[in-house]
Amino acid sequence: MPTTAFSAHYSRELDVEQLGWLLSGDRPGDDQATVADLSQWAGWIRTDIRCSSCGKTGAQVVRPSKARGSQAVLRQAHFRFVDHQGGDGHHPFCEFYGNDTGEARQTDSLLNFGSEKSAETRAVRLLVCKGIETGLFNQATIRAMRQWFFDMKSESRFKVRATPEALAWARSLQRHPSYRRWTFHPAQAEMPAFDWQAAAKFQFTEENLALVELAKTVVHQDAEWKRAGLMAAKHFGQEVFNTAALQPYYEDTLTLCAFVAKNSGISFGKTSPDYYRFQGAPIPLLALCALMLFTSEWEMNTAIAKFARLLASAEPSDLSLGNMIGLNPFHDYAAWRLVILAAEVAERSLKGFDYQAQLTAIESDLRRQHAIWKSAG
Ligand SMILES: [Zn+2]
Repeated sequence: MPTTAFSAHYSRELDVEQLGWLLSGDRPGDDQATVADLSQWAGWIRTDIRCSSCGKTGAQVVRPSKARGSQAVLRQAHFRFVDHQGGDGHHPFCEFYGNDTGEARQTDSLLNFGSEKSAETRAVRLLVCKGIETGLFNQATIRAMRQWFFDMKSESRFKVRATPEALAWARSLQRHPSYRRWTFHPAQAEMPAFDWQAAAKFQFTEENLALVELAKTVVHQDAEWKRAGLMAAKHFGQEVFNTAALQPYYEDTLTLCAFVAKNSGISFGKTSPDYYRFQGAPIPLLALCALMLFTSEWEMNTAIAKFARLLASAEPSDLSLGNMIGLNPFHDYAAWRLVILAAEVAERSLKGFDYQAQLTAIESDLRRQHAIWKSAG
């Protein structure tokens, strides 16, 4: 359910209420935030308004509905995108495809700075407003960036093959401790409190090193693994866009985020920049850094120079410019990347996907080796 969409005519991201004000030229007071009847502009809206993510037209305005006899809002005003046959108008890979019911919330792919209260988000909003006022970028640039990302993702596709077992296996390999290496010898087990489980884990590393290293190439938190599981189940066997195509851009964006967070003198959140690679960068900062790189043709030092200009420029006069800004171009990047990783790991796994069973089998093999060694003693 997109609550905002991009107007080609006004060249910016708007919600239904703001579009109503612009079209009717009539802005009600704050106490009567109502959505004007836009039916006379229906044809114009269908061709002008486009989805912030996939860029398709065919928008209709869905008016808000309230519970009978109360002020409780059952359905927020939003845009619905309909094709010529009356079906879903979004590109099949758009995050809003099949999600136009009005019940689902708008995803994190669109940041509504207007409703964001945290100091960190306000810091980014201020920078966005400065960037727009100084002409470094505008909302059309942001729309162009989203389309560029969307087109790249949809040009490259893969078939979802990761089963829940394959995902659990890849996650276990990623969490498997492999930094320390140790080779088993039966004499070690003569120690009175010998740790067989630890020995089995060391042996597992020796037998599966290539797989463990592969699984650790793309490290994300448990929340992303959970999301990966949900999406793999929902799209199993289907062809979807290949998020891995975004990897070099994601890496560069994280690098710029960490550099800016360390060198700008501004706090962008509690997460230390050194952990961005694992925990993800704050989304507003991620979005702004992607925009700086996109407008610099992905040249790191050009983007850094622009960022420095942004920080040095005067306070913006209009803070509403960056109010509604459709951007996180890496929406669901981490989760899809894990789905792809799990399939790659599964393809190279010759002994099944049961981590615990493999540790148990290794432990009994080590115990057998010890028994043979002892009886030969
Ligand atoms: Zn769409």
